[in-house]
Amino acid sequence: MTSRYAQVVVDVPTQQTNQPYTYLIPDELAQRVQAGVRVLVAFGHRSVLGYVVALTDQLPEDIQEDQVKDVLTVLDERPVLSTELLELAKHLAEKNFSYWVTFLALMLPTSLKASYRKKLIAQPSLSDADRLAYLDGQQERLVKMKDFSAKGWRAIRQLEKAGLLKVLTVIENQGKVKTTTAFQTNPDREALEEISSSLSKGAKQQRAIVDFAIAHPGQTFSKEDWLEQLDVSFATLGVAAKKGILKKVAVEVKRRPDRLADGQKDDIKQLNDEQEVAYQAITSANDDHQQEVFLLEGITGSGKTEVYLQAAQKAIDRGEQVLFLVPEIALTPQMQKRVEDRFGDQTALLHSGLSVGERYDEWRRIHEGKVQVVVGARSAVFAPLDRLGLIIVDEEHESSYSQSENPHYSARDVALWRGRFHHAPVVLGSATPSLESRARAQKGLYHFLRLTKRANPHATLPAVSIVDMRQEQLDRGDTNFSSGLLEQLKAVLARGEQAVLMLNRRGFSSFVMCRDCGFVPRDPNCNLAMTLHMDSRTLKCHYCGYQEPIPHICPVCGSNRIRYYGTGTEKVETELAALLPDYPVIRLDQDTTRRKGAMAKALADFGQKKAQILLGTQMVAKGLDFPDVTLVGVLNADTGLGLPDFRASEKTFQLLTQVAGRAGRAEHQGEVVIQTYNPDHYALKYAQKHDYEGFYRQEMAIRHAAEFPPYFYTVQIQCSASEENQVALQTAKIAAWLKKRLPEDVLLLGPSPRSIAKLKGRFFFQMILKMKKPNEVDALLRDLVDQSQKADKDFALEVRRDPVSFM
Ligand code: ADP
Ligand code: ZN
Repeated sequence: MTSRYAQVVVDVPTQQTNQPYTYLIPDELAQRVQAGVRVLVAFGHRSVLGYVVALTDQLPEDIQEDQVKDVLTVLDERPVLSTELLELAKHLAEKNFSYWVTFLALMLPTSLKASYRKKLIAQPSLSDADRLAYLDGQQERLVKMKDFSAKGWRAIRQLEKAGLLKVLTVIENQGKVKTTTAFQTNPDREALEEISSSLSKGAKQQRAIVDFAIAHPGQTFSKEDWLEQLDVSFATLGVAAKKGILKKVAVEVKRRPDRLADGQKDDIKQLNDEQEVAYQAITSANDDHQQEVFLLEGITGSGKTEVYLQAAQKAIDRGEQVLFLVPEIALTPQMQKRVEDRFGDQTALLHSGLSVGERYDEWRRIHEGKVQVVVGARSAVFAPLDRLGLIIVDEEHESSYSQSENPHYSARDVALWRGRFHHAPVVLGSATPSLESRARAQKGLYHFLRLTKRANPHATLPAVSIVDMRQEQLDRGDTNFSSGLLEQLKAVLARGEQAVLMLNRRGFSSFVMCRDCGFVPRDPNCNLAMTLHMDSRTLKCHYCGYQEPIPHICPVCGSNRIRYYGTGTEKVETELAALLPDYPVIRLDQDTTRRKGAMAKALADFGQKKAQILLGTQMVAKGLDFPDVTLVGVLNADTGLGLPDFRASEKTFQLLTQVAGRAGRAEHQGEVVIQTYNPDHYALKYAQKHDYEGFYRQEMAIRHAAEFPPYFYTVQIQCSASEENQVALQTAKIAAWLKKRLPEDVLLLGPSPRSIAKLKGRFFFQMILKMKKPNEVDALLRDLVDQSQKADKDFALEVRRDPVSFM
């Protein structure tokens, strides 16, 4: 049974059009219009792309039959979005104050978003008039959707129906299907034998080909296969094609990201007791189709990944699929290799390092159901898997799971939603869980699993020392290396072992700090580090807007050595070359890894010990597993603490724990040196003791006192415009409007300029709402978004729920 009408969400992202519209399905398209296909429909005077979100036989009450327009054409042979994803897009749009269509588009690979074309092909009895009208008088013509009005498309459809015109969909964009040359053997055995008997005696290669063809009539083999199997040349194949033995054809090949092989296989390990407990809990939830959420808190190197991989294998053995999310930065070649070793071609890989074509092909492999495991970063959470049995979110605390640009969403939350939809368990794993997740485990909302020992029985956690750089700088002047770190580094190099050095330059480098006592100016209202604004020569708090002039003398120690903080990996590399000229350094940061495959190569080189020192940004902190690394040096632990964010301590603790975890993962004892101007900071102290639980308790107490998450929910309202005065004025008006309407227990902070107050010619202001119940002001915020749409075109407003960063 086919339906009469399609509910279509049109590609016009505005508040007024954020709803499905009803279109009539013409008979000739009845088979092809299904929920989840994209269509072309008339909207206003234009024809626009739309997504069919449902089929129905009922017209909405307020609509008359003769008002309903028809679907003009269908773009997909089969649905590109499942009913699950259609529903998810709707949910996310509501939750994040965005539009349904924005999320629908987000779920598809770029290649599918690009422009569609139709190829019109004239059939023999097409009239000359029609040929002129629709084909420019040609036999064939490639047209864009907008080349014809709705009326034009209807006429084309009529011609197609009458068999006068053939209409094909062509994807005209980056996402082209890749083909390779192949040769098909002649299916006619008799003909082949005839050719065979006519070959001259000397034609050895032709004979080899014809014999092979007789043994495999009508079969297609790639060029490479032919060359390899028969040891013939390409030219010889061409001759065979001329003789009629073979036929040259093009076959599609799917581009795959390069496989990583280093000759060593990642063997399946015998799980230890703690791993076994975790494995049993997860797989039995999987067996029972329970939508349970697990928090797997395991110290670095405790074998979390081994648990994920074995649990994944179990789900695959049951015929289900696994979604394995890793943060962008941690999608290391090492992780990729481990997954490939275990699951081989059943794996699809989705991350930003892929070319558009590779991404398109990986997506289609998943869409075609050829894949059991999808490994990928944030947006992989929308992978079109329909037999999901297990979802893993590795390093669940990572902020890269949250998309900060529009549309805002959290991949971790999406994973939880999909887990509920599929009745599949979700495993959130980390050595340093987010406070939000850890608190939920505390309350019993998540099933709490812990791994407290390193998995390799010979490995222990490294000894961590904290070096006070205030003293070092007094003694040794401006340097990135304390004498202690330098000495340990030399010892490690002499022993033939390896070292990882990290310079955490995440976020801003331009905050202010006293070089003598480590004092960082904080504002009196929120006790948050303030940000330097060069234009106004002030320090500002980005939560409440408090500001003061840049101090020239430190209010704590009276020193005049107040500096903006900032050194870079490049500067350190130069210093290393002077200090240790005999030791090459591999540098890993955004500049050195921009080229495709550069990161994999750098890490492979380090793995083969082509260099003993690996220097980098926080890229070196996550996921790396090198047995000979026995020293980790953190050149400066303070940059993270200086960020204007209530999560500064949490993020610093997480990063230090992660990077420390790179040391001593095998037989040799590891050591970690943390250099800092804030040696007494509790985040550092707990990291030194490898004490996540201790950090968790102290940080929770602070959050409770300051009324921050996870005790409170936050919403960020960000306004921007190209005129600074205008955005300041508008934002103040909105704040006043909100203040009148907000319930008493909802706090409004700001408005104040955002840290990055000016970006791409636009000025940004923000307000923060803090509240006890997550959805308390949803209706009000919805209303605000609606109203701002109608305001001045230049003015933009975005609402972000639970932002992970306020910069
Ligand atoms: P994590 O993901 O918690 O950092 P991994 O799964 O990467 O830990 O394990 C750390 C190291 O210990 C890896 O080299 C891994 O091969 C090894 N390993 C994991 N589980 C076991 C086990 N049960 N027995 C022996 N070695 C193990
Ligand atoms: Zn403040």
